[in-house]
Amino acid sequence: MLINFQQPDSWGHGNNWDKYLEGTKLTDNYIYLLFELLRANEFYKDQTTVFVTNDHGRHLDGHKDGFVSHGDNCEGCRHINFYAYGPDFKENAIIDTPAELIDIPVTIGELMGFTMEGSEGRVMTELFK
Ligand SMILES: [Zn+2]
Ligand SMILES: [Zn+2]
Repeated sequence: MLINFQQPDSWGHGNNWDKYLEGTKLTDNYIYLLFELLRANEFYKDQTTVFVTNDHGRHLDGHKDGFVSHGDNCEGCRHINFYAYGPDFKENAIIDTPAELIDIPVTIGELMGFTMEGSEGRVMTELFK
């Protein structure tokens, strides 16, 4: 399942910093509620993998229009957060091995038992126990 949250990206493009922060907090809360559900449900508990990431960064302050836009090769646009949670992964580990978006589907394939023929992505083995 893929859940794509509209915020905070839309408010960022709207150049509304307060709403951008509000959208970030709202999305954080949705993710919290999802984790509460997964931890409480006997079927999903300890058997579910969750990745939380963003599909792009944003321009850094002072570069073009700052947080309002994204899509070039600046440092802010090229870096994203990636959080991996599940029974196969190390706990409480901060990993700084560089990875790319194309590594995510390949890693999902590893978890689900299929390979991504033709993909140049790699399995993010550094996440695994
Ligand atoms: Zn956008
Ligand atoms: Zn940029």
